[in-house]
Amino acid sequence: MSDFDYESRIVSIPDYPEKGVIFKDITPLFADPDGLVHLVDDIADHFLGRGITKVVGAEARGFLVGAPVAYKLGAGFVPARKPGKLPREVYSQSYSLEYGTDELQIHKDALSPDDVVLIVDDLVATGGTAAATAKLVEQSGARIEGFSFILELTFLNPRDVIAKEYPDREVYTL
Ligand code: IMP
Repeated sequence: MSDFDYESRIVSIPDYPEKGVIFKDITPLFADPDGLVHLVDDIADHFLGRGITKVVGAEARGFLVGAPVAYKLGAGFVPARKPGKLPREVYSQSYSLEYGTDELQIHKDALSPDDVVLIVDDLVATGGTAAATAKLVEQSGARIEGFSFILELTFLNPRDVIAKEYPDREVYTL
């Protein structure tokens, strides 16, 4: 946990995108130069020296976190995208949403068994997106070193969902 005041730079929107949901809007944190420096440095510094070769982030806000963190770690960035967006051969992983299912894909040649991977996103809620991203990484044979998020909705217990399949991987949240 960092001392930086992330919370004051995240806006809670009640009943968005539907009634009963409190949406966490992280765009003010990214718009604040101090906020951007702190979030990227905090995550990258935490995982520095652990041999990370690739950062994987899920569409779309995982791209915002992942690319600058990868740059700071001297690693590459791999986008996990929604179906139909990547032009070459892909690994696919579907996962459950509250209503229905969704799917993420990565290019088959984006990761290799030699890679050590950090999975990132802006927010972890149920942990479903993070677990699906991890399964995609596993399809490539790469090793998952850990997970990192700006925000964790602890009342949904995402750590339990991640720990069920990846018990010995670190989950680091700002
Ligand atoms: P999960 O799969 O339930 O853990 O949901 C996490 C995914 O949904 C992430 O990719 C987030 O970007 C997105 N998400 C869910 N709720 C919010 C929110 O309140 N603000 C921003 N993104 C959210």
